[in-house]
Amino acid sequence: MPIIQVSNPIVDINGDEMARVIWEKISDELIDPFINVKKIKYDLGIKSRDNTGDKITIDAANSIKRNKVGIKCATITPDDKRIKEFNLKAKYPSPNGTIRNIINGTIFREPIIIKNIPKIVSHWDNPVVIARHAYGDIYRSKEIQIKEKGELKLSFKSKDKKKTIVEKVFDFNSPGVGISYYNSNRSIKDFALCCFNFALKRKMPLFLSTKNTILQKYDEKFKEIFENLYQKEFKKKFQRNKISYQHRLIDDMVACLMKWSGGFIWACKNYDGDVMSDLVAQGYGSLGLMTSVLQSPDGKIIETEAAHGTITSHYKQFKNGIQTSTNPIASIFAWTRGLAHRAYLDKNTKLKKFCINLEKICINIIEKGQMTKDLALMVGPDQKWLTTNDFFKLIRNRIENS
Ligand code: NAP
Ligand code: MG
Repeated sequence: MPIIQVSNPIVDINGDEMARVIWEKISDELIDPFINVKKIKYDLGIKSRDNTGDKITIDAANSIKRNKVGIKCATITPDDKRIKEFNLKAKYPSPNGTIRNIINGTIFREPIIIKNIPKIVSHWDNPVVIARHAYGDIYRSKEIQIKEKGELKLSFKSKDKKKTIVEKVFDFNSPGVGISYYNSNRSIKDFALCCFNFALKRKMPLFLSTKNTILQKYDEKFKEIFENLYQKEFKKKFQRNKISYQHRLIDDMVACLMKWSGGFIWACKNYDGDVMSDLVAQGYGSLGLMTSVLQSPDGKIIETEAAHGTITSHYKQFKNGIQTSTNPIASIFAWTRGLAHRAYLDKNTKLKKFCINLEKICINIIEKGQMTKDLALMVGPDQKWLTTNDFFKLIRNRIENS
């Protein structure tokens, strides 16, 4: 099989623990023997972030911005326990958050569907892709506790101090709580652009959910910005691709989610996306089959990764010399989705075919009954499972013989 040549680089971001072990195996066994692509490497392993005071994360994000394709391994987000474990100089923020802020993108979470792997919601035959607007709302709110009688007001003052808006919220006769939060039209518009461009690329219908019947200014703004952009820039393109866009009330949308069989993108406000992405992930069954794509508003820059973490429990076994049965599928799909974007930008049909083929091989092997332990446990007590190493051998063999 001749090696596929790729003219532009990708940014290869390494991470931590068992995910890192899997990452290196993917490169060594499934990518390097078949594809000649320049990898611009960043080590975002926790020690390397600590040594650089986290500067390496910012460098990696800027490199993804320049090169348009980033493929990322799962990384540790340190908590107090991790700070002790690695003797860290600081409690570094989540690398994913840092990269997302620099790329100003939206994260799309998508399950990989495999026919013989049972789903908790059995009729979800096609993926539900959750897009979460990861800016503002309750995550940037200010709250107060109210301990005595009094009046709660919401107020705004313009920078030149010429304009003020004051809205009375509530007269407190007894103790209670209050909250205020915000969003910006610009961030909502970028979110809308991300969603429309992603839907077009994947040729999937798009839904936005809000509670605009109650929040007639706040949520209505989301609806209005999406609708204006759709009418102005996307309606014709959507019609040409036979896909649709619709706003729905969040209550109606959750009912549809349960009734329908998947096959759509769901644009969620920040909190809804936080909750719904975990709900949907459970409905499809396995963390090992959930992918995640971060995409810029214009659709040109993407960063891909598995949605799961560094799988610490398996890493402990691995370090003790025990063969693990860790599922590499979501990490392999991070590579195929990232390389497929490279193929799309470079118009490299051979690379595109390789990516499609590798995804098919992975799914086909599992559908023929060979899988890792996490999936075997879902299938049933009689289902046999393979070690990570044997599973990789099978995939490599199939690529070589295709
Ligand atoms: P996790 O690494 O996703 O693992 C949770 C459990 O799910 C594992 O113990 C394992 O269960 C199962 N699992 C997850 N992925 C699997 C796979 N590919 N194959 C087989 N089983 C899999 O989550 P966590 O334990 O909460 O977090 C560990 C570390 O990852 C933390 O330091 C966290 O900060 C980090 N994290 C990073 C990201 C990211 O970079 N995007 C996301 C989430 C978490 P069993 O032990 O039962 O086999
Ligand atoms: Mg959550």
